[in-house]
Amino acid sequence: MTTGSFYQNYREVTLLVVHCSATRYDRNFPVEALHRCHLARGFASIGYHFYITRDGEVHICRPVHQIGAHASGWNDKSIGICYEGGLNKDNRPADTRTYAQKCSLLDLLRQLKADYPEARILGHYQLSVSVHKACPCFDAREEYGALV
Ligand SMILES: [Zn+2]
Repeated sequence: MTTGSFYQNYREVTLLVVHCSATRYDRNFPVEALHRCHLARGFASIGYHFYITRDGEVHICRPVHQIGAHASGWNDKSIGICYEGGLNKDNRPADTRTYAQKCSLLDLLRQLKADYPEARILGHYQLSVSVHKACPCFDAREEYGALV
């Protein structure tokens, strides 16, 4: 191969998919726990590309040129971003994003849109009517659809 690394690593990305970890807003679910959980599910590593903990820290879990494991049927052309939380005190789906998480998520999506201008931003449940999940428990298309 004589092509440069950019082309070796290049992958078409048409979707930026937002997820939640489906854990309670007041429980810690650190990146190490997520890692163990995904290994137990048979993934090679964390299925998302990015994980944003409640303190707003963005954990890089997979290089973006690698296919993720976060949305069955949509993985080949997407990037998966997950925030810690998504369940309220009654274990029901709720937008539990902290202010720090909202800031980091917005920042990250802006960067990704700069790298992949054609990509659409959707929440997991917005991928298809056949996705029967509340994830990510808020309307990502509405909130980030106008991002350029
Ligand atoms: Zn999801």
